[in-house]
Amino acid sequence: MPNVILLGPPGAGKGTQAKRLEDERGMVQLSTGDMLRAARTSGTEMGRRVAEVMDRGELVTDDIVIGLIGERLSASQGGGFIFDGFPRTLKQADALAALLDRMGQRLDAVIEMQVDDAVLVARITGRYICGSCGAVYHDTTRPTRVAGVCDACGSTDLRRRADDTEEALKQRLLEYYKKTSPLIGYYYAKGLLTTVDGLADMDAVGAAVAAVLDRRG
Ligand code: ADP
Ligand code: ADP
Ligand code: ZN
Repeated sequence: MPNVILLGPPGAGKGTQAKRLEDERGMVQLSTGDMLRAARTSGTEMGRRVAEVMDRGELVTDDIVIGLIGERLSASQGGGFIFDGFPRTLKQADALAALLDRMGQRLDAVIEMQVDDAVLVARITGRYICGSCGAVYHDTTRPTRVAGVCDACGSTDLRRRADDTEEALKQRLLEYYKKTSPLIGYYYAKGLLTTVDGLADMDAVGAAVAAVLDRRG
């Protein structure tokens, strides 16, 4: 199965499409955001520091996230990875190339989910997630079928993210443009980049992502 990076600003729809690919194709989502959210509840000193950085909307240090991805990859077999929210810096991109190389895997596609920044506030402030399985919902564009109950796993642990405020989003967008958006040019130059319209409805975005994988995978 192909290995793909989903690239885009906070709220672009990366997590939503990653979950779809897991359900529809049995691919494996590797979300550094989810891994870091798990680490922050661990009660360790590292977890406490990570929580502070995340809630300010800044990027966690490269070494920490590269370590997390490295652990996950070395524990897995085969491919079919969906990198969601990783890499976010050129250093992380280089580290990923080295890790995949060591596993005899390659990167098949990088999908940029292009959105208008003006929609991101509404996307982010309406988002809620399942604390149990990580499914992603939205107050208006994708509410759970039964209020308060996760469609995917039945959990009632639905929550908002501490960093999903308008204030933290400003910082997250700045970080995206300063540190992550250079990856668009970087992967374009490698011949791996395809851009999809992230403003379309979720099914249409899903179809566009599927078409890229069928072409490149
Ligand atoms: P979003 O849904 O906004 O794209 P994520 O869940 O991917 O957010 O990430 C949430 C936060 O976790 C980021 O703002 C950042 O603090 C931290 N984080 C996640 N992935 C990375 C990464 N690859 N490098 C650095 N920090 C990261
Ligand atoms: P990211 O992982 O890139 O931060 P998410 O997948 O978590 O983005 O999506 C952000 C919010 O926008 C969520 O509440 C999600 O339900 C909603 N959303 C995702 N894709 C779309 C879409 N195509 N149209 C409308 N809302 C969307
Ligand atoms: Zn759930």
